[in-house]
Amino acid sequence: MLAVASDDVEVAAEALRAEWRGLLDEEQHAAADLVLDFSAAEMTCPACLTTFATGPDECPECGLNLG
Ligand SMILES: [Zn+2]
Repeated sequence: MLAVASDDVEVAAEALRAEWRGLLDEEQHAAADLVLDFSAAEMTCPACLTTFATGPDECPECGLNLG
């Protein structure tokens, strides 16, 4: 658990996000953006890249649990 002053929370979060993204290659980076957008009307399975309407907890194509 990181302890940061409240003013630094956004900076710390951004730094962690940048570090995490740095660990991903370009394809994973794109998948991460997609899978993190739970408010979108559609989502794309990070495993098989099937796009489907948000709702089911599992990918209808490959069955990956997205819940
Ligand atoms: Zn899938």
